[in-house]
Parts: sequence; structure tokens; C-alpha cells
Amino acid sequence: MKNEQAITIWDGCDPSILEAIEHFQERWQPYSSASRRYPIMRLLQEVIDPAVDAYMKTLPASYSGFVSGFGAGMGFSETARLVGLDTMVRLQRKLLLHFIKTVNKHDSRDQRFVATIESLTELAWDCACKRPKKSTSVVGLNLNTQRKHAFCELCGEFSEFASFMATASEEHVNDAELVHEKRLQLSHQYCTRHRPILVDGRRNPIYRQAKRSLAQFTLELDRLSRQCTKRNMSQAASGDPLVDRYYYWLLLSQTLQPADKAELRNQARLIVDTRLSDRKKQILILQRDGLNQSDIARRLGIERQAVSKALKSLASLPKLLQLKE
Ligand SMILES: [Zn+2]
Repeated sequence: MKNEQAITIWDGCDPSILEAIEHFQERWQPYSSASRRYPIMRLLQEVIDPAVDAYMKTLPASYSGFVSGFGAGMGFSETARLVGLDTMVRLQRKLLLHFIKTVNKHDSRDQRFVATIESLTELAWDCACKRPKKSTSVVGLNLNTQRKHAFCELCGEFSEFASFMATASEEHVNDAELVHEKRLQLSHQYCTRHRPILVDGRRNPIYRQAKRSLAQFTLELDRLSRQCTKRNMSQAASGDPLVDRYYYWLLLSQTLQPADKAELRNQARLIVDTRLSDRKKQILILQRDGLNQSDIARRLGIERQAVSKALKSLASLPKLLQLKE
């Protein structure tokens, strides 16, 4: 098996960019976007940025509007850092399509521009997929799927790309052209529900909401993961005994194992999306202990009305989260 991917460089690419990409490829083996010691962004900054800057200076200023980030005065690696390589690729493809439809005169300069930008887009895509050399593989998914984390960053579903590749390998889709076309439109980081840009080009409000609560999602996932390693002991380590007991009872009623990553991620997502705060978890536990609203209020040092309001909102939660299953 050939273990190193070759970055596709388009015919007609600017020679200095071509040289930079080749130089990049000679050095990129230990680098990846996940590595702290060898962050791929640093290599991009070091090797690619100067070449792209120099190339852009040879073109009329209006061309920078067709290179993602450049129109806003940002460099290649800076843009990649800011919006992420995945988004950068999708954005760049849109911009290039726009260029081809509007400005392109098909003369040598424009042909070179298209080939150069296509090559840089391939580079960005390959960087997004690059894994550190010593990476463990994900069971059940083929090589292409393993190139990136299979899960959506925001829930327990597969990313669009991972689920496409899984289906493609199941159905033995061998049409490389189809795969190539399709992969450009699919999100590598997010599932269909959480993709940042909807198919019609609008921003996805569900993505924005989930992204804003990413820290809480991670926190919930950590607690659930800790608690499910030993379900007969309270060990969510939330810092509050009542909240810890919530996770204890939540997981006691289920048969989740630490390996049930998808389900754990989905439950963490559900807790966040249903706004099940730690305060509400405390209320649920005290209610489970048999305390009435006044007792719960006194115990938590809050108004009885607040307890009543919380209980009303909790009634619409899935039974599982209400600890009634
Ligand atoms: Zn998702």
C-alpha cells in the first residue's frame, strides 16, 4: 500500500506555486492539522504563503477577490486557520466557479490562474484529510473514510463525507469520478443537520447554535463518558453531588458502554439542545428523592416559582432525560 498521498497539481499551474507545493510535499510527512508538534498550518505558512503572495502580486488586484481570504487581505494559511480547511475548500470552489463564469477570458493568464487555484484547493483539501503518520484506523470504514474523524464534530452522526464513503464502500461504488465530484460538496466535519452552509447556500442556524454550545457539548460528553465506565458508582465528577447523581441514574437505566461513542455523543447533544442545565438536573434528582416543590426550593435556595417553572419546562423532555424510563 502506498502510504503517502500525492497532492494533485494541475497542468498549467504557475511554476513557482508548483515548486512550493512540491517542496511542501517533501516536508509534510510528519505534519497534520491534529499535531501540536507538527501543525500543518505552520508548514503552510512557511512554504505556501510566500509563494501565493508573490504570485498574486503578478496579477491585477481584482483577481484577489476570487481567492478565498485574499479579498479581505488575508494570506493562505491565515484564511485556513480562520475558517478551517474544509470551509476554505468549499468557499474557494464557489469563487473559482464565479471567476470562470464571469471574468475568465481563457487567455494564458486566466488559464494559469484557474490551474493554480485548483492546485491550491487540492492542497487545502489534502491538508484537511492528512492524518499523522502513526494513526490508528477506524474499524469498519475504508481508507478514505479514515482520513478524517468519522463523527460530526457536534453530535454522534457520521460526517456527511464519512457516511457517503461508508455507503459507497458498502455498495461497491467504484466510480472514482463520482466520488471525486461528490466529495467536494460534502462536509468532512459535520453531518447533514450540522453543516455550516445549507445546500442552497444559506447559513445554517442549527450549526451556529450548536457551535456556540460546543464547550457545553464537550463537558456533557466527558461526564457521560466518565459515568458509563463504572455505572454502579457515581463518578461524573461534575463538582456537585446532586448533578453527579443525575448522571448516575441516567446511565443506570441504560446499557451504554464507553465504546458506544455515537450514542454517548447523541445524548450529550440532546442534553445541550434541550437546555437541560445543571440546575434542572438538581431539581430532577430532588424530585426523584420525593421532595415537593417547596422542599426543592428550600434545599437549593431558590424561589418556589423557579422550581415550578423549571418542572414545567422539564415535562417536555424525553422520558429518558427526565429519569422516568
Ligand atoms: Zn451533527
